Amino acid sequence: MVTSGRLAVYDKPKAPFELKSFPIRAPRADEVLVKIRMSTICRSDIHSYLGHRPNPCPGVLGHEIIGNIVALGSDVKRDMRGETLEVGDRITWSEYFIPGSSYYTEVLDLPQKSPGVDKYGHMAVTKEPHHHGGFGEYCYILPQSWILKLPAELTDEEATPINCGVATVICVTEQAEVGMGDAVVIQGLGLLGLYAAAICKARGARLVIGVDPVSARRELAARFGVDRVFEADSREIRALCKPEGADVVIELCGYPDVIPAGIQYLRTGGRYVLGGLVNPDAFVRIDANQILRKLLTLRGVHNYHPRHLIEALDFVLANRKRFPFHALVDGKYRLEEVGKAMQDAADRKVLRAAIVP
Ligand SMILES: [Zn+2]
Repeated sequence: MVTSGRLAVYDKPKAPFELKSFPIRAPRADEVLVKIRMSTICRSDIHSYLGHRPNPCPGVLGHEIIGNIVALGSDVKRDMRGETLEVGDRITWSEYFIPGSSYYTEVLDLPQKSPGVDKYGHMAVTKEPHHHGGFGEYCYILPQSWILKLPAELTDEEATPINCGVATVICVTEQAEVGMGDAVVIQGLGLLGLYAAAICKARGARLVIGVDPVSARRELAARFGVDRVFEADSREIRALCKPEGADVVIELCGYPDVIPAGIQYLRTGGRYVLGGLVNPDAFVRIDANQILRKLLTLRGVHNYHPRHLIEALDFVLANRKRFPFHALVDGKYRLEEVGKAMQDAADRKVLRAAIVP
């Protein structure tokens, strides 16, 4: 049995990462100990590292993680689908865990917003069992997480973003009620926007329009089902969504300034879902009368329901030949290189940087 493992720790926002060893113990009855295979850097890791939102320090980041089971707690027998879990299995798990049942789990069916919900890669490294982030060699899966075994066909590059990027966008497109024949506008063609395009096509959208100022992303977009791309807001966008405007607009860029344009693109009765505005103070001035007159639906998505993790895995597995998901993880770094990986990801030199310990 291994007795310690290294983690890439940072003391405060923007401080350099240092590799530090922390003890490893046997998992408790409802925990699982995993050896990390790959961890990808999500935009929210960058927001945390730069101090754009509060994250406990000294911290260990990383929540898009896959790994192999090293040891199973005595009460953990099966994954979400009822598959038997065994040492060595390659698995993914929910990016969050909850303290137990509450009004949110029992009545509202919103376990992802349970009071006391916490996320991997969002805790101080001093908090036992220390290994609860992706930028390290090991991770404990804590009680009240949701685990899924990964099919052998999926590569690590296809599998790692499933538990945050893909599952979030499954939730966003479900909440947007994207359906057969819809015209959809996606604001932001980062990783989430590209998955969103692919998922909208898989849900039956007839037209997907993407808006993003980064030319490299616009060039990649066609491979993920985007029919037309725009660098910025344009009158043409609404005109393309015949006869009366877009059925759905999805915000995945994180900039509140795009919201007035999004409202303009929509047809009467259209749906607008916000999925990228994860930072506080996202103020914007809008004509709310337009929401009323156009009978618009406006929704926010934060975290995802456990069912979306299953759907995300199924979507990637079923569509991996149609869309080149493996190409989205376009930079690989060793654990010693987390600082460089974060910098490259922050500078948008790579779409999804992967840490391979
Ligand atoms: Zn994430």
